[in-house]
Amino acid sequence: MGLIDTHCHLYLEEFDADREERILAARDSGVEMILVPNVDLSTIDRMHELCDNHPDFAVPMMGLHPTSVDTDYVSQLSVMESLLQTRAYCAIGEIGIDLYWDKTRLSEQKAAFETQLRWSIDLDLPVVIHTRDAFSEVFDVINKVGPERLKGVFHSFSGTVSDLKEIEQFGDFKLGIGGVVTYKNSKLPEVIAQTDIRHIVLETDSPYLPPVPFRGKRNEPLYIWETAAKVAMIYEMELEKIVKITRQNSLEVFFK
Ligand SMILES: [Zn+2]
Repeated sequence: MGLIDTHCHLYLEEFDADREERILAARDSGVEMILVPNVDLSTIDRMHELCDNHPDFAVPMMGLHPTSVDTDYVSQLSVMESLLQTRAYCAIGEIGIDLYWDKTRLSEQKAAFETQLRWSIDLDLPVVIHTRDAFSEVFDVINKVGPERLKGVFHSFSGTVSDLKEIEQFGDFKLGIGGVVTYKNSKLPEVIAQTDIRHIVLETDSPYLPPVPFRGKRNEPLYIWETAAKVAMIYEMELEKIVKITRQNSLEVFFK
């Protein structure tokens, strides 16, 4: 029984030189499982290969990332929709709306997000949501589809207390907390202190957003322990208890 890294892009080329080693290091440290979000058509084969090589450790998701939503999004989605019929995935992800990089595709991003939320209902799978500068747009689409029909994770949660309270109203959503919570000027510790630990799942988003003291380096699943330690401080709980509760939260949202 160990930690679950609920968001990890270990198939990316950043790990081509030492992927197996880094998996061993994570497993030896007590990382029990990693959940692996897709990005777009170009990442599917690599993601499947990773998960096929480590069926007891790495579990794939399927979805189109908002920053990959372009004019061809309908054809990308149709490939993904057929893959969802052919093999098991633990979630629809990662999906959502990102207005930080590009605002010009907002209507396409909204449409792709809505379509994929509807898949999650049809397939009875959770969703993993990426939101950047777009909480109100994301909430609008969720409210349109029906929050009571959805469950999932707000990956790399970066919102305010009022965003958090709105998410709590949805019922079955967790907040994905990663390295950002360890950053010196992050408001996240005060924000998540306003919610119960049963709403928290841990993630790395490897190779991105490494926790202190690894900032500026490549992130990897092993470093989830730094985030877990910080979350233990925020909730004034033993690390062991954080492992147990966040593991249980993860199993509840992804495998129930
Ligand atoms: Zn991601």
